[in-house]
Amino acid sequence: MRIARFSIDGNVAFGAVEGEKQDELVLDIIKGIPFADFELSGTKVPVSKVRLLPPVLPNKVVAFGRNYADHAKEMGNEVPDAPFAFFKPATSVVGPGDEIQYPSFSQDVHHEAELAVVIGRLCREVPRERVKDVIFGYTCANDVTARDVQKREKQWARAKGFDTSCPLGPWVETDLDPHDLTIQLTVNGGQRQLGRTSEMIHSIEDLIVNISEAMTLLPGDVILTGTPAGVGPLHVGDEVAVTIEGIGTLTNKVVKRG
Ligand code: MG
Repeated sequence: MRIARFSIDGNVAFGAVEGEKQDELVLDIIKGIPFADFELSGTKVPVSKVRLLPPVLPNKVVAFGRNYADHAKEMGNEVPDAPFAFFKPATSVVGPGDEIQYPSFSQDVHHEAELAVVIGRLCREVPRERVKDVIFGYTCANDVTARDVQKREKQWARAKGFDTSCPLGPWVETDLDPHDLTIQLTVNGGQRQLGRTSEMIHSIEDLIVNISEAMTLLPGDVILTGTPAGVGPLHVGDEVAVTIEGIGTLTNKVVKRG
């Protein structure tokens, strides 16, 4: 099931996405919240009539770096022996169609297409065989990065945590085997990144075992699983799109921060 979060006439709700053609998609409004048991209301609204929002509002976004060998190599980094985590704050999250605001303190903002895992239940110290039970679903993410700031500053809080640096969407797909999906990114329609999730160095299971050893994960928390090779600059006016097989396309436009 594809579950979107949206607003219509000032109200925010979750809905199950029905249909295949982009201009014919319909939302069946969900009663309650999707992490618990929920029912579909049967009240339907066309996607074209709503504003899609970030599909979840995470308490935290835990992002893993250097998890595809070709990307580690293109950045001149060794592949880490163990998963390597950092945070993006809740205030970095924006939704499909939202603007990425180019920050004033960077001259080299890059795109990073990533598979995002959405956590479905409160959990800690998750054993490997239970990881599937704590996952709600999957969505597309762009780990937007001020590359010059990342190189200049030891901590990545500013480089990877600025407002609008974590587009998520367009919805969460709950029925998906995530282990061998095509992940690609285009800028103004031209392909920049192309990989497969099977190229991850540390698996989704490894990543969730690793982070949940350290901290409690909450429903709606998001785990970013690393980016394949091909990262590169974004400029004001660009349209950047992340597409993951079986999920959909997350599109955002880059603007100057006002
Ligand atoms: Mg990344």
